Formats: sequence, structure tokens, C-alpha cells
Amino acid sequence: MTKIDYRQATFLISAAHSKQFPADEGKEVAFVGRSNSGKSSALNTLTDHKNLARTSKTPGRTQLINFFTLDTEHRLVDLPGYGFAKAPIEAQKKWISVINHYLKHRESLAGIILLMDIRHPFMDFDTKMIEWSQEQNIPLHILLSKADKLAFGKQKAAYLQVKKEIGDNPLVTVQLFSSLKKIGLDDLKKQMGIWFS
Ligand code: GDP
Repeated sequence: MTKIDYRQATFLISAAHSKQFPADEGKEVAFVGRSNSGKSSALNTLTDHKNLARTSKTPGRTQLINFFTLDTEHRLVDLPGYGFAKAPIEAQKKWISVINHYLKHRESLAGIILLMDIRHPFMDFDTKMIEWSQEQNIPLHILLSKADKLAFGKQKAAYLQVKKEIGDNPLVTVQLFSSLKKIGLDDLKKQMGIWFS
């Protein structure tokens, strides 16, 4: 398992399309989730930065893929958020095509971290993300975010329910997570360390 110092994360580039992506070398782990899922908070917690993911929230950049360097061989990727039930169909189509292109063609993509609010799992495109990652044989690890919002017993019940729904698939895993209370941070690093190895 590769030990990475996530505090080394530095912003590399915001890309609107694949031509702007950094060279497809080494390994990267991509974070994805609907807006408000806690994705930025998770990236900030992981890297111990106050606002690493702020670029992704800048108006005009919310649809971009943001790359962060960890070291010469490892990167973090912040994929554009979704959750636009009321968004114009064109915006949805654009998001789908950007994400699909990235998942299909990115050789260095070692794994996907999918954020789902523990209180509202499997919404919008969450299930699609799981399907697409399976189609491409890319491992996907679910963070049930904001776990601190539920009492311990309910956290455990939600975890077991999601585990049951994803079934017995070694390429899809799940854990509890809270940026606020730092629940599950070591497990997240452990999973990413395996992918980065
Ligand atoms: P993003 O839109 O997916 O990047 O989500 P953010 O990280 O911006 O978080 C959305 C909202 O959820 C913000 O108000 C955060 O403060 C809150 N939030 C994020 N993570 C946690 C957490 O672990 N616990 C709690 N209680 N709130 C959280």
C-alpha cells in the first residue's frame, strides 16, 4: 500500500475537455457526487486544506474537471457535481458526456470515490455513476457523508442498507464518513492507498 502525504495536494488545472487534461500517466483518484453531498468538504478534510476544492465552486467552473497534484505520480480529481433535477436537459447531457468520456478514456484513473449524503443515498445520478464505473471495470468506493448527522445506531443501519443494495461486488465498497467529526478518514486513506499502489 502506498503511503501518500495528502497535505501536499496542490491545484494543477481546471479542464473543460480532454485536451486540457494533464498527461495520462501515473495514477489518479476521482471524487464525484451530487452538489451538496459534502465532496468539497471531504477533499478539504483529506488534504487538511481549508479550501482546496474552492476552484470547483467558482461560478463558471462548476462544470469543469479539476486536477490536483499529490506528487509526481499521483493526483486527485474533482469531477463536476450533479443533482440538477431541475437543471436544463442540455446541462444534464453535457455533464453526462464529460463524465462518460473521462471514465471511458482515462487510463490513469485508479478508482472513484462517490459521495452520498447518508440521509439521502442513491439519488439522481448516483446509481448511474455506479453502473458506469462497473461498465469500465473501475473500482468505486462510496462515502456515506455527513454521518455525524445521524445517531450511531442509525449510521450503522444506513450503512448496512447501502451495503445490501450494492450487493456482493468486490469493485463496489462503502464506508461511513464525516468531514466534521473525521469519521472514516483512515479507512478512506487506506482504500486510496490500495488504489495508488
Ligand atoms: P459539495 O457541494 O458536495 O462540495 O458539498 P460541501 O462540501 O460544500 O458541503 C455541503 C454542505 O454540507 C455544507 O454546508 C457543509 O458544511 C455540509 N457538510 C459537509 N460535510 C459535512 C459533514 O461531515 N458533517 C456535517 N454535519 N455537515 C457537512
